[in-house]
Amino acid sequence: MKLRNTAAAAIVVLALAATSTACGKSGSPDDKDGDKPSGGTSAAALPQYKVNTAADVKDSPVFEKIKGKEITIGTKADQPGLGYENPGTKKRSGFDVEIARMIAADLGFDEAHIKFKTVPSEARETQIASGGVDLYVGTYTINDERKKQVGFGGPYYEAGQDLLVKADSDIKGPEDLKGKKVCSATGSTPLKRIKEAKYDVAEAKAQQGYQLCVQDLVNGSVDAVTTDDSILKGYAAENKGALKVVGNPFSKEPYGVGLKKEDAALREAVNKAIEAHVQNGDWKKAYDATLGLSGSGATPPKIERY
Ligand code: GLU
Repeated sequence: MKLRNTAAAAIVVLALAATSTACGKSGSPDDKDGDKPSGGTSAAALPQYKVNTAADVKDSPVFEKIKGKEITIGTKADQPGLGYENPGTKKRSGFDVEIARMIAADLGFDEAHIKFKTVPSEARETQIASGGVDLYVGTYTINDERKKQVGFGGPYYEAGQDLLVKADSDIKGPEDLKGKKVCSATGSTPLKRIKEAKYDVAEAKAQQGYQLCVQDLVNGSVDAVTTDDSILKGYAAENKGALKVVGNPFSKEPYGVGLKKEDAALREAVNKAIEAHVQNGDWKKAYDATLGLSGSGATPPKIERY
């Protein structure tokens, strides 16, 4: 970095000072704000998670396998504010990433022992079931169909399906999609829903991820992108003045932490971790520093044990 003047030097010194005070005994890295996409995070306000070095999860086959080693957590990489990977620095940021870090800390894993793995919507069930990931935290809606293949801790957040359109579009809700082209992600609940006959869309285009859909919207090959409002707000913030979220949610998408279906002990450990971090204020701090920057306030939903 070139320091052209003393003001720039002073800023760097301040930034370093803030970083070192924030560091302490935590399981989080000094800086995890990625390249700060507008829907992204502000490093200074992120909580620090104390690693439970005595963690044990009795009767959990997955924990038994990873104990004292590392935990592999699947997430998204193209969802600013939620699960984002800076393509240059490879740093991960967002609310999902923070939820993953707080759970990992409670399970005894510091940042150096978390391996994040990018897994798109369509590959989640197979990655969890095959052990490709130990946990999955990535805008993953809990539903009965998915529960046939995987288990869910949580929910830790509740989103709703919405639409992202060009700023000058007159689409105001799903009822205006008749004859329109809409993009969503393969293997997602929004794609499935938008194909229902009642919406009568001209095309439901399936992409690997939502960032690709946003490109389609910008270049005019689709009229709308549909997925959770939480995800769309991040893209709208990155494309201020050009794109907008319609703001008329038409589903409930409770986000769960995906894990092996039969590992009830790990599921309960995840639930306890979420509850503890809601209780101690980490959830709110993490939300305010990430997803909360591009949306309105939110309160954590109640854990649903099953
Ligand atoms: N929450 C929805 C789902 O789990 C959409 C977001 C996503 O694809 O991750 O299908």
